[in-house]
Amino acid sequence: MTLQPRPGILDIKPYKPGAAAPEGAAKLSSNENALGCSEKAAEAFRACAERLHIYPDGGAGELREAIGAAEGVDPDRIVCGAGSDELLQLIGRAYLDPGDKVVQTEYGFLVYRLVAKQSGAEIVSAPETDYRADVDAILETAGDDAKIVFLANPNNPTGTYIPASEVRRLRESLPADTLLVLDAAYAEFVDAPDYESGMAMVDAYDNVVCTRTFSKIHGLAGLRLGWAYGRPEIVDVLHRVRGPFNVNLPAIAAGTAAIGDRDFVKRSKAHNDEWVAWLVQQIRGLGLEVTPSVCNFVLVHFPDEDGRRAEDADAFLAERGLITRPLQPYGLPNALRISVGLAEDNRAVADALGEFVAR
Ligand SMILES: *Cc1c(COP(=O)(O)O)cnc(C)c1O
Repeated sequence: MTLQPRPGILDIKPYKPGAAAPEGAAKLSSNENALGCSEKAAEAFRACAERLHIYPDGGAGELREAIGAAEGVDPDRIVCGAGSDELLQLIGRAYLDPGDKVVQTEYGFLVYRLVAKQSGAEIVSAPETDYRADVDAILETAGDDAKIVFLANPNNPTGTYIPASEVRRLRESLPADTLLVLDAAYAEFVDAPDYESGMAMVDAYDNVVCTRTFSKIHGLAGLRLGWAYGRPEIVDVLHRVRGPFNVNLPAIAAGTAAIGDRDFVKRSKAHNDEWVAWLVQQIRGLGLEVTPSVCNFVLVHFPDEDGRRAEDADAFLAERGLITRPLQPYGLPNALRISVGLAEDNRAVADALGEFVAR
């Protein structure tokens, strides 16, 4: 007889990542860093080739020190993981029981659903307003019995954020024992004066965890590296449930170099500032609706007309070597998410969309 996994596991739809790009095509489907990564990080990675037979430091001490120094926080309150994905999963593993209620927003990051289902918990989505998290709707959905609320701020795939005052109001209005997980994967891209990543909230309130990643501004998606910042009680719990060597040796070395390379971060930010604004302006100029973005991608909406929908645009762009992200799994079947690429990729996207709408 076939062995059965825990209830709920077979309901999980495996995560489908942004499509790979064929040779010569531009991969604009996964919000990776168009500029690659810090040369210092690449150098640190290469230097690990001689040490691959040695176990990494299980506590990733050097990396936590470097993150602590860069962010001005206590390294003992940081837990590193194989991508923020792993940290989100560890949070679920540690805190969720079967049947628990988990809340996310309507177009929330797909990983939250996986995390909930892996523990047999129930995931409920709070409606968004104009593709933006709505604190009142989250509070209403959470009621008095949500175990975890996941909020990506800014969110993927919408690219929008809510101000710090709203996130604080959310924390203050949720039941004290509901854990608020603030996923700040795109924090480094945001300039808005009313935005905060959530790190300060971890210090100010109980039951807040902030997750961060090296996959976006640092351009190390392939290495799988992220970190969580939390209160000592929560950090202690995450250390207990993580694998003893959950972050590998090259990831620790490259991440340590990357977080110290302020120049690369600055260049990435400047590239993004220039091109995200350009893409929004160009694509709106074609008559397509674009949701305002503070991230390294744009959400483009298409007309609901035969031959002009998102799936048609996706095929049209793919034929021209431009790979974007269709969003059916997010409940946005008539939108595409397009990551900021190199200058020539961005121009090619705008040109191809121009041809698409004119044909
Ligand atoms: C890309 C992304 C992450 C990062 O995931 P990693 O596992 O660190 O690569 C986390 N949250 C959101 C919302 C993202 O878009």
